[in-house]
Parts: sequence; C-alpha cells; structure tokens
Amino acid sequence: MLAYIGLGSNLENPRAQVELAFTELAALPDCELVARSALYGSTAVGPGEQPDYVNAAALLQTELTPLALLDALQAIEQSHRRVRIEHWGPRTLDLDILLLDQQTIESERLKVPHPYLTQRNFVLYPLADIAPELHLPDGRNLQELIALCPRDGLARLE
Ligand code: ATP
Ligand code: CA
Ligand code: CA
Repeated sequence: MLAYIGLGSNLENPRAQVELAFTELAALPDCELVARSALYGSTAVGPGEQPDYVNAAALLQTELTPLALLDALQAIEQSHRRVRIEHWGPRTLDLDILLLDQQTIESERLKVPHPYLTQRNFVLYPLADIAPELHLPDGRNLQELIALCPRDGLARLE
C-alpha cells in the first residue's frame, strides 16, 4: 500500500521535529520511506498569536493495515508530545494520513482521504513535490486542486 503522510509542527524547533519524524517514519517496521517533500513554512491562521508552522509530506510503501499505520503514527506523535508535556507547550508534531492508494475509509478513527486535504495549501504543495500526478479516489487531480488553492504565505524553506 502507498501511504501519503502529512507532517506539521509549530513548536520546539519545528524543523528538527519534522526532520526527526522523517527518520522515524523510515524506521517503522514493514515500511519504506519512498519520498519526502521539501520543508514548507506557513503562517498559522485563526485567532491569536501562534508560531509559524513547518509542514511537509512523505510517501511510505507499507505492508501495515490502515489502522496499524495510524497506531504507528500516533506512537510517533506521542513520543514527540512527551517532550511537549514536559515543557507545557502545545503540540509539537502532527502526522496525518492523507491518502492510502485509492482507498476511501470512513470510520470514526480514520477518514481517508483526509477530510481537509483539498483545502489546505500546506498539504497540497508539499504533496506536489512527491507526487505531481496524484489523483484522489473521486477523480480530481492534484494540479487542479492546487490551481484552486492560493499559495498565500506558504514558503519553501531552504
Ligand atoms: P485535522 O484533522 O483538522 O488535521 P488534527 O490533525 O489537529 O485535525 P488530531 O487531534 O491530530 O487532529 O486527530 C484527531 C483524530 O483524528 C485522531 O485521533 C484520529 O483517530 C482521527 N483521524 C481521522 N482520520 C485521520 C487521518 N486520515 N489521519 C490521522 N488521524 C485521523
Ligand atoms: Ca492535522
Ligand atoms: Ca492529526
């Protein structure tokens, strides 16, 4: 199964959080890290002050079932959150399953494609780095989604 994963962090050296997460994804059992995007910086939207985010996307080839993959990603998040709890800060790492082959899953724990995938520039632009030809189970392709989703403050980081 090909799994597209979205990564995000806005706390405690976000770049290092995301870089470590790539390493951890590559080390998961029955998984191979096939591709990774560049890192992107995005300004957090919504009320109040929030640090900027670092976002990225990864492509995994995995033999895990969808729920076993979600368990594995949540275990990685927990290991990053442990640091956060010690420092009383908000979340340090978010790992979302964006797509799993052409599967559609609608369970309480897992919805695939990720429900907000098509609306988020910080998801769509990193995905284009690793899978420019990508299309969704409903037939829409990544390039048409990107054309509808302004880049705004999203910046490719060095
Ligand atoms: P958003 O979904 O808007 O990106 P979030 O990433 O902040 O929000 P979390 O608190 O990280 O949300 O996750 C809440 C729950 O979402 C998880 O416990 C998980 O069971 C569920 N979930 C459903 N679909 C997915 C998915 N495709 N990838 C990851 N988690 C998912
Ligand atoms: Ca998320
Ligand atoms: Ca999440």
